[in-house]
Amino acid sequence: MNEMEEIEIVIVGGGICGLATALALHRKGIKSVVLEKSETLRATGAGITIRANGWCALHQLGVASNLRLTSLTVQGGTNISLASGKQQERPFEKGEIRCLRRSELIKGLAENLPPGTIHLGCQVLSITLDPLSPHSIIQLQNGRTIKATVLIGCDGANSVVAGFLGLKTVKFLSLSQVRGFTKYPSGHDFKNEIVQVIGGHSKIGRIPIDNKLVYWFATLKMNPKDVVAKDPELLQQMTLESIKGFPTKMLDMVKHSDQDSLSISRMKYQAPWDILLGSFRKGTVTVAGDAMHAMGPFLGQGGSVALEDAIILARCLARKRHEIDTKTNGSQVIAYKVGEALDQYVKERRMRLVQLSTQTYLTVSFGGSNIDPTAWEDKKFKGESRFPAQVRIQIKKKCKPFEEDEFRPILHHYDGPKFRLKLSVPEVSFYVLPTYLVSKTVTCLH
Ligand SMILES: Cc1cc2nc3c(=O)[nH]c(=O)nc-3n(C[C@H](O)[C@H](O)[C@H](O)COP(=O)(O)OP(=O)(O)OC[C@H]3O[C@@H](n4cnc5c(N)ncnc54)[C@H](O)[C@@H]3O)c2cc1C
Repeated sequence: MNEMEEIEIVIVGGGICGLATALALHRKGIKSVVLEKSETLRATGAGITIRANGWCALHQLGVASNLRLTSLTVQGGTNISLASGKQQERPFEKGEIRCLRRSELIKGLAENLPPGTIHLGCQVLSITLDPLSPHSIIQLQNGRTIKATVLIGCDGANSVVAGFLGLKTVKFLSLSQVRGFTKYPSGHDFKNEIVQVIGGHSKIGRIPIDNKLVYWFATLKMNPKDVVAKDPELLQQMTLESIKGFPTKMLDMVKHSDQDSLSISRMKYQAPWDILLGSFRKGTVTVAGDAMHAMGPFLGQGGSVALEDAIILARCLARKRHEIDTKTNGSQVIAYKVGEALDQYVKERRMRLVQLSTQTYLTVSFGGSNIDPTAWEDKKFKGESRFPAQVRIQIKKKCKPFEEDEFRPILHHYDGPKFRLKLSVPEVSFYVLPTYLVSKTVTCLH
C-alpha cells in the first residue's frame, strides 16, 4: 500500500477556477497543489467571453495585460430574427468584454504558477474525513492517498467534492450547445460584436476573437438521448442541419470551421434555491467555480464568476493565515481558523451567486431557451413572437376566461387597453439590480 502524503492546500480540478485559485493563493504567498484528472490541461469549448468582473479578477491575478493582447474588445451586439429578417441591437452592458481562446486563458493562468503546482493524471475518486485529525483524506485513481489540511473542489459541474459536501446535483435542459472556431486566413469582415441569428428552435452566434479567428456557438434543441455525437464531422453536420436556411455567412462559417475545435455540451445549471440553502463547507473542505454554481452559457458569466471565487477564497484564507502560528497552534486550532476563513468566503459569495443563479434560472425558465416561437405571435410575421424574452407558455388547467373586471385588480401591469411593460420597484430590485451588480462587484485580493 502507498504511503499517505501530506499536503497543506489541495485544489481538485485544473480548469479555469482551480488554476485561478492556485494563482490567487500564490500571489498571497501561499503554496497549493492542483490535482487534474486529465493528462493535459483541458480547454474544451473553443472560446469564452470574459466580462468586466472577470477582467477585474484577471487584473488582480496579474495576467490581464497579456491576455488582452490575444483578443479584440467586443463593442456591441445584434440579434437577427430569421422569420422577419429584422435586426435588433442587443442591450449591451458597459465595461470590458472580450472573447478569449480558452487555451490562452488556461495557459495564462498555468504559466504563472510555480513549477510543481499542477499534478496531471490525478483523478480524485473519493474524499473522507480523517477520524484522527480535522484533515481530509483524498483517494486518487492512480493509487495515491493524500491528507489535506484544506481541500478546495474546483472540479466542475459533476464535482466529487460537491458530492462529499452533500450538494444538490445540477439540472439539465434538453438543449445543447456546439462550439467551435473558424479561421479566416485572409481576414474576415465582421464587426467586433456578438451577432446572433434566431430561428425556430435553433440559434447561432459569432464573436470575433481577432481579425482572423471567429468563435461561434450554436444552441440546438436536443433531447439527452440525441447528444451522442462527439465526432467533429458529425457535430458539424448536425449543426448545419439545424441551421438550414440561416444566412450564408453563418452557414459558411460552420462549413469551414476548424474541426479540432468542435465540441458539444448539454446545458445545465444550478437552481438558485440550492445555492441559497447549500452547505458549502464541511470541516476544511469547500468548493468554487462550477462545482459550486454551474450556470452554463446563459449569462456568459460562469468563467468570470469562477475567477471572482478564486480571488475571494484566497483573500479569506490569507487573512486568517496571519492569525495562525504553525509552530504553536495544534491541528484543531488551525482547522478552526481555516473553517472561519471558509465560512467568510461562503458568506461573501452566497448572495451574489443566488442573484446570478436566479438570473440564469429566469433565462432558462422564461425566455431565450424556452421560447415557444408562436406565443404572442406577431401579426406581421407569422411564427414569430414579438416578446421572445418574456414568453413561456405552460397550460396547467383550461378554465373559462375571466371577465376584464375580474382580472384587472390582480394585474398591476394592466393599464387601460394595454399592458404596461414596466417593472415595479420590488421587481427592479429582483430582476434588474442583479444584472447591474454582475459587472459592479469589486473583486480584490487585499
Ligand atoms: C456551452 C457553454 C458555454 C459557456 N460559455 C461561457 C462564456 O462565454 N463565458 C463564461 O464566463 N462562461 C461560460 N461558460 C461557463 C464556463 O465554461 C464555466 O463556468 C467554467 O469553465 C467553470 O470553470 P471550472 O474550473 O469551475 O470548471 P471546469 O472548466 O469544468 O473545470 C473542472 C476541471 O476539473 C477537472 N476534474 C473534474 N473532476 C475531477 C476529479 N475527480 N479529479 C481531478 N480533476 C477533476 C476537469 O478535468 C476540469 O479540468 C459556458 C459553459 C458552457 C457549458
